[in-house]
Amino acid sequence: MTNSNVVLHVADVHKRFGGLHALADIDLQVEEGQTHAIIGPNGAGKSTLLNVIIGKLAPTSGAVVFDGTVLTGKKPYQINQLGIARVFQTPEIFADLSVLQNVMIPALAKRDGAFKLNMLRTLESETEIRAEAEHMLEDVGMISRREMAAGSLSRGDKRRMELAMCLIQRPRLLLLDEPTAGMSRHDTNTTIELLKKIKSRGMTKVIIEHDMHVVFSLADKISVLAQGRIIADGTPDQVRGNPKVQEAYLGG
Ligand code: ADP
Ligand code: MG
Repeated sequence: MTNSNVVLHVADVHKRFGGLHALADIDLQVEEGQTHAIIGPNGAGKSTLLNVIIGKLAPTSGAVVFDGTVLTGKKPYQINQLGIARVFQTPEIFADLSVLQNVMIPALAKRDGAFKLNMLRTLESETEIRAEAEHMLEDVGMISRREMAAGSLSRGDKRRMELAMCLIQRPRLLLLDEPTAGMSRHDTNTTIELLKKIKSRGMTKVIIEHDMHVVFSLADKISVLAQGRIIADGTPDQVRGNPKVQEAYLGG
């Protein structure tokens, strides 16, 4: 039975790539306002699960339901318009445009229903969206870099900019795929603090993470994926003490 606070329900999802059962029998319920982490060793199926949620991959069977709407069969942009935003594992940005312009674009695309190239010419006159983008950049600690070309940012700063690009869409559900991958320890800690700040605003988040330490201080609930199956779930304390989880990481 589905709890009424559940905003995202992955229901009995299977995904096969030829003979490989990449996702098996996945049932996952994410509650409104919570930070739900999906962890697991490399190759466990985390990115596949995320791609099924955002409509980039169709499940072989099963369904994904968001806020009462079946997402299965919808296109990624339609799912995005329903209020799901994703921070990509590899940032997709306009390298030659400024940081500020990069943050304005998703807000424009949302307002106008789609991204259009001629938007880039009218960016100057969008004072309201500009103000909002500046506000988001303040939030992620990037306001002093707003005129820099996005392509010249450090990896950590690109991540922060990308987070601002998501937040400006005011999503109901934010999906983060390994948000600290490739970051220095310093940038990792800054990102964790930033994600805690967003958490206190009550936005629902799903974080996919390889590094267990990143999620233990952030997550309300953790589901552990290994070889395409959820082998454990619960609070961070419940998951930490679970021998199956230790085994999956050590034996992987
Ligand atoms: P994770 O993100 O947890 O590291 P993935 O979801 O990327 O794992 O991959 C899970 C398994 O599915 C791996 O064995 C991977 O090689 C395989 N896989 C992922 N995407 C594809 C694809 N498009 N075609 C075939 N196999 C894939
Ligand atoms: Mg992955």
